[in-house]
Amino acid sequence: MAKNPEKLWKTPPEEALRWVRGTDLTALDHSSTPGWAGKRADGERLLAARAPELADLQEQLFAHGRTGGDRSVLLVLQGLDTAGKGGIVRHVVGMVDPQGVQHRGFGVPTAEEQQHGYLWRIRNALPRPGYLGVFDRSHHEQVLVVRVNRLEPVKTWRKHFRELNDFEAEVAASGTLIVKVALFVSADEQKERLAERLERPDKHWKYDPGDIDVRSKLPEYLVAYQEMLDRTSTAVAPWYVVPANRKWYARLAVTELLTDALRSLDLGWPAATFDVEAEKARLAAS
Ligand code: ATP
Repeated sequence: MAKNPEKLWKTPPEEALRWVRGTDLTALDHSSTPGWAGKRADGERLLAARAPELADLQEQLFAHGRTGGDRSVLLVLQGLDTAGKGGIVRHVVGMVDPQGVQHRGFGVPTAEEQQHGYLWRIRNALPRPGYLGVFDRSHHEQVLVVRVNRLEPVKTWRKHFRELNDFEAEVAASGTLIVKVALFVSADEQKERLAERLERPDKHWKYDPGDIDVRSKLPEYLVAYQEMLDRTSTAVAPWYVVPANRKWYARLAVTELLTDALRSLDLGWPAATFDVEAEKARLAAS
């Protein structure tokens, strides 16, 4: 086992996973571990070692929000069923104080949501200053499920690429750092994960018969994902594509991406808004 597992990142994940326009998504090796030269045990050790830093960085973000700061972070998770979005929320986001997290899952729009434009529910869920927002699925479904299931005419959903980019540019300009992660498992791995959901009574609640329909449309989804990645990976909101057959790698990679994003804000702890020495004296005298 390596002494300092951090060194096993041969290419930093934010570089190794950043989507390069035109890369062939169908050629992705879902079991690969881009940038990482270590074994599973090293990866799990680094993940555990990162927890206190990640928690501190998130607390600094929260503290700044409480003292007038306008920064926030938005982690966008996309992926088909069984890609492991829930596991990322539990194992990565779960390492920080839940009081500072605004988590929101986006399913089929409700009757109320349908009365508004598709960005309405998204805007309402954006993280407030100081918060780590987590979107489990997102506005990008508008060029994924909407496209594949032909829920809108082609000329309507085609316009969304531009709208999504304009929207994210606006969100970024308001102080939100956007980290977009797309998780991909292979068709075989997806089959195994669905089979497990059927085998285990404790996983039946996760099984949705509709998942098989999505599975049968995998090639169409890949075309939609390819174009989404190519057209909505921008300088202010790049996509990171994470091969997710190995759950430990996906969780480590997203932990690193999130830690790097929070570090890049370079917040530190906010300065006291009171005279520390005077308060110490008052406390001593009390
Ligand atoms: P998971 O994301 O893990 O599947 P879930 O099954 O609990 O979670 P649901 O509330 O059932 O989540 O919603 C997920 C479903 O909602 C997906 O099938 C997704 O394609 C669909 N969905 C999300 N956004 C839209 C949208 N804008 N239009 C139509 N369907 C959408």
